[in-house]
Amino acid sequence: MRYLVLSDIHGNWEALAAVLAASEGAHDSVVCLGDVVGYGADPNRCVEWTREHASPVVRGNHDRASAGEGDLSWFNEIAAHAILWTRNALAPENALWLRDLPRGPAACGGFQIAHGSPLDEDGYLVHIADAEATFPYLETPLVFFGHTHLQGWFLWARLRSSPFRRPPGEFVLDLRPGDSYLINPGSVGQPRDGDPRAAYAIYDDAARTVAFHRAAYDLASAQARIREAGLPEMLAARLAEGR
Ligand code: ZN
Repeated sequence: MRYLVLSDIHGNWEALAAVLAASEGAHDSVVCLGDVVGYGADPNRCVEWTREHASPVVRGNHDRASAGEGDLSWFNEIAAHAILWTRNALAPENALWLRDLPRGPAACGGFQIAHGSPLDEDGYLVHIADAEATFPYLETPLVFFGHTHLQGWFLWARLRSSPFRRPPGEFVLDLRPGDSYLINPGSVGQPRDGDPRAAYAIYDDAARTVAFHRAAYDLASAQARIREAGLPEMLAARLAEGR
């Protein structure tokens, strides 16, 4: 089975559409690590596509907040502005779907998916210490996570974690038996690793490989939609920088 692994779409339909076009025919199933909405101007379209095509889907912090759950004081001013805009824009059935998404991690054919850390859905896995504190508790040797918007992986071999590694461009990682992996496919809709192209990954469980990919998308349209929506200008500007 080949899984298209998507995370942090953030309401960016142009980016999601480019990923779907680029990965067409290369996967049998889609999983989503959360933050379908927030920041971008097309929350309904992104939710509707994900509802129909991805399973399992776990909730992200923006999904929860945009569905009206919890407290906005955890978000910075720009994120909170986008969440309030998204709450207002969401069709009621899409808000309900977001509200009812399960907390990660979720099991999926021999691996798990989580939004943040598999131990804490809002936890960021950034540094080697975060990985060292997480690997001993994993229930499966392969876990996909998102939330940081950084594409790459941590490896756990001989009871030690390696630092977070970024793929050098298009890259296929071979999964070795006996080792464990925490893998971030990157963000579809708001990459923050300096590459503005939409990020995604494809896991092939028969070949035991994870392929990291990027897809260029219609950035100008996504930016124009953000500006037309009256969302903060910074959310349009940062897409071009991939930061
Ligand atoms: Zn996110």
